[in-house]
Amino acid sequence: MTSIVEKTIFELSSPGRTGVAFPDPDVPRVKLPENLLRSDLPLPELAEVDVVRHYMRLSKFNYSVDGGYYPLGSCTMKYNPKINEDTARLPGFAFTHPLQPIETVQGNLVLMYTLQEWLKEISGFAAMTLQPAAGAHGELTGVLIMRAYHKSRGEAKRIKMLVPDSAHGTNPASSGVAGLEIVQIPSDARGNVDLAALKAACDETVVGLMLTNPNTLGLFDEHVEKVIQIVHECGGLIYGDGANMNALLGILRPGDLGIDVMHFNLHKTFSTPHGGGGPGSGPVGVTEKLAEFLPSPIVGIVEEATDGEPPLFGFIEPKQTIGRVKAFHGHFGMLVRAFTYIAMHGPDGLRQIAEYAVLNANYLLARLRHTYRVPFDRICMHEFVAEGKVEGSDVRALDIAKRLMDYDFHPPTNYFPLIVHEALMIEPTETENKDTLDAFADALIKIADEAKAAPELLHEAPHKTPFGRMDEVKAARELVLCCWLPEEVSKQ
Ligand SMILES: *Cc1c(COP(=O)(O)O)cnc(C)c1O
Repeated sequence: MTSIVEKTIFELSSPGRTGVAFPDPDVPRVKLPENLLRSDLPLPELAEVDVVRHYMRLSKFNYSVDGGYYPLGSCTMKYNPKINEDTARLPGFAFTHPLQPIETVQGNLVLMYTLQEWLKEISGFAAMTLQPAAGAHGELTGVLIMRAYHKSRGEAKRIKMLVPDSAHGTNPASSGVAGLEIVQIPSDARGNVDLAALKAACDETVVGLMLTNPNTLGLFDEHVEKVIQIVHECGGLIYGDGANMNALLGILRPGDLGIDVMHFNLHKTFSTPHGGGGPGSGPVGVTEKLAEFLPSPIVGIVEEATDGEPPLFGFIEPKQTIGRVKAFHGHFGMLVRAFTYIAMHGPDGLRQIAEYAVLNANYLLARLRHTYRVPFDRICMHEFVAEGKVEGSDVRALDIAKRLMDYDFHPPTNYFPLIVHEALMIEPTETENKDTLDAFADALIKIADEAKAAPELLHEAPHKTPFGRMDEVKAARELVLCCWLPEEVSKQ
């Protein structure tokens, strides 16, 4: 028998139960057009408490960074400080509208302007847009800017984007969406961009190179300056994928290195929520020569300060702008959260973030490299990639990942990057202490023992979660997105 708390809201529904009482309308009633009305709307009828329990129960099925350790490589699942939520909810921020006259939202504009200035200083770029809604969206914005720059110089023939095989998958995807041809550049034995292959691919049809550095192996390219030089020499631009800025904050500024355009992921590096808690935010910084191509509008000073009067902040349109890439001004609530995070840390705190992120990753790497093979085994940055295989056992990375859930850990990223077989991509983040890192390493070492002694334990994992091992093919091919439909409707 299903217990009462396990019943769906449809099973709990009972005619006449209500959760809300609407007030009488304070506007005249009108007759609605017949063709817009339906005779029946089969929604469950429940009291407020039933609905709250239903969603609370569902929320407990989820794993969250507030609930446990989440070393999901590439995603930077660091803890999101709760003060960010307080500031984002301040009525002056939360209850403003993007179409209000600028005189009435000077506080919001000062915050956006200041965040632009801070991100410029952190990254070494000359100008910044806050519009893009995510990392991949920032990439598309950046690629369109690179293309617009070449076109403005009469170089429309530049249609090829070079993308190393250690890049994030969104890099070739963004170039493809922008209509470019993608040329893959292999990695060398140490996980760097292969310089000979890069040289061979560089010619006058190249838009540029999209460089993820540190790359998806968690490695800093040892010849990064050479890579940038080779691409610049053939007239190409360098796109820097800044999703891994967590490893570089306060230590290296990509703009100083010669990178021309780069996106940030505020929802990774600067602790704004992501996953189910999104939305994201992917500001893009550019060098001086690309500033005129940024999306419009940019927050700027529209009237300089005069005696006793502060400057007036408003919107500025870059002269050769690629246009708008997002409604209004981006995800403003996320900008408030990232602003708060940077303000709370200050310059030294930001540097510490990078130092601890790299230290934590190298600590875990040192504890695990004897149990799991690390194909590119050198000092890593904020993450590393191991092989999810155990000598003398037939377990796969997927089995190891699923078994970790029985130890109350979120699995690392699986099967990415593609250049490592059975990849387990581990990103500890700086917000975890040594006890947590040790518990995680202990679990992975114990799982390697289990893989030899009792492999079926891994093949059938997870055993402790509300749902067991899923049929992945079925889940992908026969996705049921609206399991909440009442029976009479789902039969139709
Ligand atoms: C996460 C990530 C992206 C994509 O960012 P989204 O915000 O998920 O679109 C791009 N590159 C790298 C290296 C990343 O880790």
